Amino acid sequence: MEGMLSESDRRLRALQSLYGKTFGELSAQLERDGVRPVHTRTLWRALYREGMTDWEGRTDLVPALRRWLEQWLESVSGGSGEAGVMRWEAVVHSADERTSKGVFRTRDGREVETVVMAYPGRRTACVSTQVGCAMGCVFCATGQMGFGRNLSAGEMVAQVLAAQGLGAEAGTQPGGAGLRNVVLMGMGEPLQNYEEVMRALEIVSDRGGVNVGPSRICVSTVGVVPGIVRMAEERRPYALAVSLHAAEDAERSALLPVNQRWPLAELLDACRRYSELTQKRIIFSWTLIEGRNDSAEHAQRLARLLRGMQAHVNLIRLNATGGFPGTSASDRAAEAFRAVVQEAGLPCTIRQYRGVDVAAGCGQLSTSRRSRSA
Ligand code: SAH
Ligand code: SF4
Repeated sequence: MEGMLSESDRRLRALQSLYGKTFGELSAQLERDGVRPVHTRTLWRALYREGMTDWEGRTDLVPALRRWLEQWLESVSGGSGEAGVMRWEAVVHSADERTSKGVFRTRDGREVETVVMAYPGRRTACVSTQVGCAMGCVFCATGQMGFGRNLSAGEMVAQVLAAQGLGAEAGTQPGGAGLRNVVLMGMGEPLQNYEEVMRALEIVSDRGGVNVGPSRICVSTVGVVPGIVRMAEERRPYALAVSLHAAEDAERSALLPVNQRWPLAELLDACRRYSELTQKRIIFSWTLIEGRNDSAEHAQRLARLLRGMQAHVNLIRLNATGGFPGTSASDRAAEAFRAVVQEAGLPCTIRQYRGVDVAAGCGQLSTSRRSRSA
């Protein structure tokens, strides 16, 4: 395959293989190779502000930098590459054109999905962190497909750039207004891929580059306790969402097997520690399943569980997946649930329902044949 690539494709791949490096790492690499680190800023801007896909004809880049890029191309050509290439295989737009889903093909032939949600004047990218997921939550299509592998930081950065309309294959990605938010709510469990996720977020939030503000980046976890504590201890500046879905251990374990490993008491201790250390409010996600966790009593139990905490509750309607028979709570039940939570003094919102016609809703991402035909 490598031999069939055009020269410009090879250069594109070489640039993409830089996406996993933080500014500091890129600067150190240039310096090691005898290029003054002051040129890092130029390269960084070209990659992340302009979405440079080729340096051919870029006479504005100093010769030393262009020579370095040629050398870099030689050193990464032929090898398996790290992030290598990520390409939009297909992009589908929802009927209302507010939600788009890109299917990405990785260098080793895996597929992951990225969702872009458009709001007036801004966009949110919903990024995948793993191919599949090992956590096995029963109502989630990604969980139903099992675990493939972790994505590299570069593969996550590539998703963000594409969502922004930059990087490879301009014109095929969802275009439009500027990217404001990044949420790690695509395929995979971000805190099971901690190092690469944090590296990607450092790159994406760099002010001289993509520049998505850290507080506009949300890490969503099913409740990986060591990861939550680590984020707090390292003072990571991102927002944290914890997927709760039940406020009682037996109920939660039946939906989220991970609860057997880190039961509610431990999870809530980690959340309190997180708030203490970071002074930040945590978003608790609750997917409403009819007859399972949508009663007023469930809402009261949730409010009791979170009492005294700096919390925000985000209710999600259940989206259909092939492997789970449950259905979403009704709008009335969702409103009633919200009222109980709010009366208990906790801010509570119901997430907008979108992208479901193209299987881009929460929990619908999977790259089995079934959803590929969507
Ligand atoms: N692994 C992380 C992030 C990805 S899932 C996590 O679990 O938090 C993003 C959110 O979608 C989670 O809150 C998850 O519980 C929810 N979700 C999963 N399947 C869903 C479905 N079928 N309908 C609605 N929400 C779902
Ligand atoms: Fe994985 Fe999150 Fe889906 Fe659970 S809900 S299987 S943790 S992606």
